[in-house]
Amino acid sequence: MASALAEKILDKMRQVCPEEGRFYPLHEPLLGRREEDYVLDCLRNDHVSSVSSYVRRLEAAMAAYTGHAHAVAVSSGTAGLHLALVVAGVQPGDEVLCPSISFVASANAIAHAGALPHFVAVSQTDMGVEAEALEVYLQAKAEQKEGRLVNKATGRRISALMAVHVLGHPCNSPALKALCERYTIALVEDAAEAVGSYRAGQHVGHDGRAAVISFNGNKTITAGAGGVLLTNDTGFAERARHVSTQAKQPHPYLFEHDAVGYNYRMGGLNAALALAQLEALPELLARKRRLAEGYAALFEGLDGIRLLQEPKGCQSNHWLVALVLDEDRKHERLGILALLNAHKIEARALWAPLHTQPMYAQAPSMGQAVAEALYERIICLPSSPGLVS
Ligand SMILES: *Cc1c(COP(=O)(O)O)cnc(C)c1O
Repeated sequence: MASALAEKILDKMRQVCPEEGRFYPLHEPLLGRREEDYVLDCLRNDHVSSVSSYVRRLEAAMAAYTGHAHAVAVSSGTAGLHLALVVAGVQPGDEVLCPSISFVASANAIAHAGALPHFVAVSQTDMGVEAEALEVYLQAKAEQKEGRLVNKATGRRISALMAVHVLGHPCNSPALKALCERYTIALVEDAAEAVGSYRAGQHVGHDGRAAVISFNGNKTITAGAGGVLLTNDTGFAERARHVSTQAKQPHPYLFEHDAVGYNYRMGGLNAALALAQLEALPELLARKRRLAEGYAALFEGLDGIRLLQEPKGCQSNHWLVALVLDEDRKHERLGILALLNAHKIEARALWAPLHTQPMYAQAPSMGQAVAEALYERIICLPSSPGLVS
């Protein structure tokens, strides 16, 4: 038997997802004529590989859109994060600070770099890394040794912080930037979910050495698969481009490489799709804002829940609209998820906190009461731009 609250939520959801029997995915892209035109043009008249002019056009358009000096198109957001960590100087055996509330790819990119995630606490309001609590923690647990920050308990170097803009809501990256400068560690921004999100009028991604946006199929705009690494540092961009192409030295016919590189470049077909999507982004963002406002009006006054709010001074892209259950209603979360999914409305739980996942259960971690409480209380709702006109 579904609870009264679950039934009420389903009833409200029918305003947004009206057709009984139809499947409403968590997030599906809105694709149109321009997407078809660009992909076909790429196929017929250009290269389908990473040498396509569409890759260069996408990079230029992304840099212009976010205001970054450089954009490097990559094969996925996860690859971009790995690349950013490596270029930022993360070494095998290091620890990298990472929030416990994120998609698993954030921690996996750290592991791919041979480092260990060290989980840090998140904020109740924006779900990003909590700067003040992290500072107190580092004061107690870490020390400076010969210009490096070292975890006193493990003896390992702490070389970077990965900040995450969760569900598209900007985290407090200016405070995290200041903290990273004080502790001489690199800041990398996981902005995978945050294309089109702004703090104080500036697109997210300018506080870290680099930021990475994902164009996976379920993100706000898609390349099918892919992403982009953004940076204002010319040397960083050049190095990222170089190691993403097998660290091959430029030469007309010789194959000479100067480092262990990666095959992380985006292909032309993906870039053609992403460029068309980027040109539609203002319209998509307006739709997603209307959808978020519609959900807010719909659920206003319903006892036992609230909607996760856009952080103050920020403009979120509202990638996923999230319901937050009151503390005394959290036992109803699974019942609500089951009821909505039984009616083909693809509501989803938040990611299980990363410090609880078996491959990271031994990793160092701050206290994670907030992460665990958020996990127990949040339900993500279908947020496709096609749900409003
Ligand atoms: C989607 C996502 C990624 C990974 O991006 P892919 O393009 O799927 O590899 C990383 N971090 C977060 C927070 C994400 O949501």
